Amino acid sequence: MKKLAAGNWKMNGSSAALSEVTALLAAQPAPNCEMLLCPPATLIAPMAVAARGSALRVGGQDCHPEAAGAHTGDISAALLKDAGASHVILGHSERRADHGETDALVAAKAAAALATGLTAIICVGETEAERDSGQTLDVVGRQIAGSLPAGATAGNLVVAYEPVWAIGTGRTPTIPQIAEVHAFIRARLGAAMGAEAPGVRILYGGSVKPSNAAEIFGVAHVDGALVGGASLKAVDFSAIVAALSAAQTGAA
Ligand code: PEP
Repeated sequence: MKKLAAGNWKMNGSSAALSEVTALLAAQPAPNCEMLLCPPATLIAPMAVAARGSALRVGGQDCHPEAAGAHTGDISAALLKDAGASHVILGHSERRADHGETDALVAAKAAAALATGLTAIICVGETEAERDSGQTLDVVGRQIAGSLPAGATAGNLVVAYEPVWAIGTGRTPTIPQIAEVHAFIRARLGAAMGAEAPGVRILYGGSVKPSNAAEIFGVAHVDGALVGGASLKAVDFSAIVAALSAAQTGAA
């Protein structure tokens, strides 16, 4: 399995930020892992052009469950693909919180992504209150059960475990806490997907940075990272890609 370093630029990045892509490709021309950036929709097409012929893939941050139609302000999986995207992040906690996205809606969006030929990166994770009250595995199990689309395979599904309280806060779970949830997700994928489950990449996300990446990548069933803030600067994202490449070499 090729590990995956994915960056989520969220609502950041004007066209001037494409210089970070140039710098990233100069620093990581041929990483030993997969490398993906998910910029705002306005930057997908120019970033795809900048990344053409390189190891960098480009993705969206959301898509509509329907293929086309009267949905002002939304974007379909087909439009993402047409712009040059190969992946789409779905069910990020910021969308679940800001837009009231349910597991059923995430599953419908993921089905649309798969039908279009995009790889769906489905995000799950508990809030701080849920962790403090011992509900982490219940919440993550429920999200996995409700958000996976039919027809998912190791080739078109990635799961990102992102504890909500670790996103953008500089706080991370302990290594045993990460290990526990990733092993749990692998087991739940096994129940849902059978023989496909061992090949599904499970990313950790939440305050990954160059200083903690190597330790996190050493955890069993951590097959890469979904990185927010530290993906905006090529120097930081490149260091995370380098740490994941080293983990890939170690796992080979
Ligand atoms: C994210 O938004 O997916 C994320 C993990 O953010 P950060 O790395 O900034 O915590």
